[in-house]
Amino acid sequence: MNFADLKSPPPSPLVLLDDQQWEDRDVQLYIKRDDLLAPQPNDPFCGNKWRKLQYNLLRAKDEGFEKLLTFGGAYSNHLAAVASAGRHLGFATLGMVRGDKVENPTLALAQQNGMELHFVDRTTYRLKGESEYLRQLEDRFGKVYILPEGGTNPLAYPGCAALAEEIIAQCTEPPTHLALACGTGGTLTGLLSGLPDLNPPEVIGISALKGNFMAGEIQQQLTELALNTTKWEVHSNYHHGGYARQSPALMAFIQTFYQRHGILLEPVYTGKLFFALYALLAQGYFPAGSRVVGIHTGGLQSFGCAV
Ligand SMILES: *Cc1c(COP(=O)(O)O)cnc(C)c1O
Repeated sequence: MNFADLKSPPPSPLVLLDDQQWEDRDVQLYIKRDDLLAPQPNDPFCGNKWRKLQYNLLRAKDEGFEKLLTFGGAYSNHLAAVASAGRHLGFATLGMVRGDKVENPTLALAQQNGMELHFVDRTTYRLKGESEYLRQLEDRFGKVYILPEGGTNPLAYPGCAALAEEIIAQCTEPPTHLALACGTGGTLTGLLSGLPDLNPPEVIGISALKGNFMAGEIQQQLTELALNTTKWEVHSNYHHGGYARQSPALMAFIQTFYQRHGILLEPVYTGKLFFALYALLAQGYFPAGSRVVGIHTGGLQSFGCAV
């Protein structure tokens, strides 16, 4: 892949799910297969990580950066995505990983893609947003383009806005609801910024984390963008124990969904999203005639062999 591919990606598929449970309630569920937006199958540079990095990578290139530096926990899809993007586009990559040295498939993949990992104790890691600490990192590593944890920064939004426009353009009839899993909420915020002012769909966020802070984070991001839409909400009761935690019910759902539809979900984000959509359907949340689009944001790279 090259920078021209990064500028104008082909649209990822939007597919209507053939499922009796949804038909019975006269609701259509579409899946936006953004997991297929990737330089190659199962590449961690995919889905919403692709969307969030797109304009950052173009900026880094324009400004002559050769190195990307970012932050993440040991299970961060963002770290793996940055590593792979760097390999595809010719940037060196540095990953500052929270906590003691560990090994897992996500970090192994990041390393295979050339990322230099530095494990940072939790106290130091908390300085990741402070300009003084970032200056120290530049002294240590040289000129680096710094991406925040999870990749949510002002340049992450336009790529997610393009995702919203792409979905609207692909629907023959406008969708009534768009739904996605949330980690930092940046993807949801960017998506909202790309929706039409007139009759936008309701956006539903499913928090992958435990706690009730997600809506507040998103509201803050919207305020920074001076966007005052209210057609969104976050559900914080589908975390299945918290970030990167899972429940037997969630694992069973992912298995059944794969058997029925041949679409892989992972337990950190997209499994929780579609589990929640089926639960909301069963509760009668979606009025008959609704057209719901669930966004498959990717994240499969470390789970691809799980089923
Ligand atoms: C990172 C990630 C998310 C969360 O995105 P935010 O913009 O941080 O809310 C959702 N889904 C997948 C698959 C991810 O990797």
